[in-house]
This record gives sequence, structure tokens and C-alpha cells, in this order.
Amino acid sequence: MKAAVLVESKKPLKIENLELPELSFGQVHVKLKYSGICGAQINEIDAVKGPDKFLPHLLGHEGSGIVIKVGEGVTTLEEGDHVVLHWRPSKGIESQTPKYKMGNSTVNAGWVTTFNEEAIISENRLTRIPKDFDMKVATLFGCAVTTAFGVINNDAMVKVGQSIVIFGLGGVGLNLVQAASMVSANPIIGIDILDEKISMAKKFGLSYGINSTKVDLEKELNKILKGNDADVVIDTTGITNVIEKAYEITHKDGKTILVGVPKKGENVSIYTLPLHFKKILKGSEGGDCKPDEDIPRFINLINDSKMTLDGIITHEFKLDEINSAIDLFRQNKAGRILIDLDG
Ligand SMILES: [Zn+2]
Repeated sequence: MKAAVLVESKKPLKIENLELPELSFGQVHVKLKYSGICGAQINEIDAVKGPDKFLPHLLGHEGSGIVIKVGEGVTTLEEGDHVVLHWRPSKGIESQTPKYKMGNSTVNAGWVTTFNEEAIISENRLTRIPKDFDMKVATLFGCAVTTAFGVINNDAMVKVGQSIVIFGLGGVGLNLVQAASMVSANPIIGIDILDEKISMAKKFGLSYGINSTKVDLEKELNKILKGNDADVVIDTTGITNVIEKAYEITHKDGKTILVGVPKKGENVSIYTLPLHFKKILKGSEGGDCKPDEDIPRFINLINDSKMTLDGIITHEFKLDEINSAIDLFRQNKAGRILIDLDG
């Protein structure tokens, strides 16, 4: 089985042939169809949390695939099921993490990994989907879509007509715009440094796009919000001065939600007094999403044409080309990028 292995931090991934371990209690053997790429993997490659003690290891936490075999104790899935692979825990057993063989050495892996053609996954990182549902779209339920909708529904609890500002219109940013639009936030303001991303976000319900490299951000916001602060402000960039700005432009009774994570050692400076009253500053943990409850809702919405993810996947790569896919991700210009693992 081919896999992209992180052998050394801050270096390209290596495509290697790995041997799968035997299935143990609560584990499921999955043949991957597609994987997404998100900021979390880039952070792992770049070792932003400090030295990586698990090297060499596998990566990836959103994918789709087909169950080949279930291990002892697994009750929620059976052979042949189509599944979403997600990083948030759900129903079922949380198994041990698997160890793969690469020649004579061991490759570590978490409960879920998706930069590999086949994987041993913990039962609680898998959710069954209908067999006729598009596997490419399903991949996005592993992280991007579920996180974004969770941020809007569970963290920000946006009310109809509340104003929202979203910093960064990348993969999660686009889905945040979509979710904000579906709960009727108004206006929905997106800030980015690339015009292409702003025009893409407009297709998903963005009311106003601000290119912060071209205009005075505060002046523009003032104009759009008629001098008011925003009810909800979400940062997806993890850039410290952007986080500070996001907090600053949040209404005194509003919420600042952090989705992006700064590098270790990069600190933000804020005036905390408003937090003693009604202002809320919160870091989101995957939008508190519950995959087994949320994924079926999204599938229903899509099947009933109340939601579409058409156009959100802008690029596809084969596993062998994964380093090019990662380079493209780093340029910040793509929508969602998929890795096709059905080689
Ligand atoms: Zn992710």
C-alpha cells in the first residue's frame, strides 16, 4: 500500500510502500477514495507545535473510502460500507493507534490518517454514508464542512440578521461564508488578500469582500456596518495581528471565534476588560461538531438541493503528486484540494 510519509519535519513527504498491521479491537480496514488537505497537516509538516516525537508518521484527517474489513468489537460498520473519515470522535470504539511497517522500520499513525491508499482506522473516526452519495463531496465532511458549520452553529451561535466578519476565505473560510449565509447572517463580510478568493466566496453568499492589501480595512468596515462593530468575527488565518484586529472589531456584546492557530511562541495582545462583561473570545475545537449527527444532516440538505458544495473543490492530485498539492495549498489560492487515492 502506497502512502505519503512525513519522515522529517519541514521537508517534502516521501511516497513509500507500507505494510498494514493486523486489525485489532475496534479497528476498521478502509480503502481510501479521496483525501482532503487542510491547515492542520501543514502545521504538522512544519512542526509548529514544537519537535515532532512521532516521526516518521502518516498524515491527513479528512477522507472518504470503502470498508474492506472490520475488526473485533466493531458494531457500527460492515464490509462494503461507504464512509467518511473524520478527525472528530464519534460513535463506536476508540481503538489503539496502528503502527505500519516500512521495510524494517515502524511508521506511526493516529486514529485516522488519509494520505495513504489504505488505512487502519479507529471505529469512532468513521461515519457511514449512503452508497449513492458523491465520495468527493463526502470527503469534505471529514473536516472542512463540518468544522465550518459547527463554528457557525455551535461556537458563534449566529442569529438571523447578525453581522459577521470572516478573516481568511480559504477552504474553511468558504464554508464559513456558506454556513453564515444558510443561517441568514447579515451582512456577511469576508476579508482576504486575494481578489480570486473574494469572488469565489461571493458564490457562497458573501455580501461584501474586502481586499485588505488594497483598501483601508477599518474605513470599509465602518462604511458597511454603518459605524457599528460586528456581532460575530471569525479568524481563520492564525496570524497574531489579524486575531488582535478580529477581537478589536467585535461588538462589546459579540463573539470573536478563533479557528486559525498561531505558531507556538507567537502571542497576541488584547485588552481583556470587555471579557468581564458580555464579549466572548473563544478558540474553536473543530466547531464542536458531532460527525454521526451532522453528516446525515448535510447529506439531506444536499440531496434536497438546499445546500451545494459544487465549485468548492478546485484541484485534484494523485498521491504521487501530493507535494505539489501541498505547495499549492501553501500558496493559499486554491479552494479545496483533493487527493485521488484510487490509483
Ligand atoms: Zn482539517
